Amino acid sequence: MTAMKTPGYILTFRCVNCGRLEACTHYACERAVSDDQIRARIYEANCEGCGWKGVVCGVSAIQIHPTPDLKLKPQG
Ligand SMILES: [Zn+2]
Repeated sequence: MTAMKTPGYILTFRCVNCGRLEACTHYACERAVSDDQIRARIYEANCEGCGWKGVVCGVSAIQIHPTPDLKLKPQG
């Protein structure tokens, strides 16, 4: 059992499909980075509301929320 904590940021976007603020993605990083750096990136987001998946640009993030533990889901 590995209980590694992954610090980073949770980004919330407005879903382009259903319009809800439930399209989320994350940016894992071990040290603090500025909002500008986070917003300069492209992400793949996943909407919790309707299941939409797609590419979003960091500049359109509604909210950037730092977290000490991203609780990443295991792959596969
Ligand atoms: Zn949606």
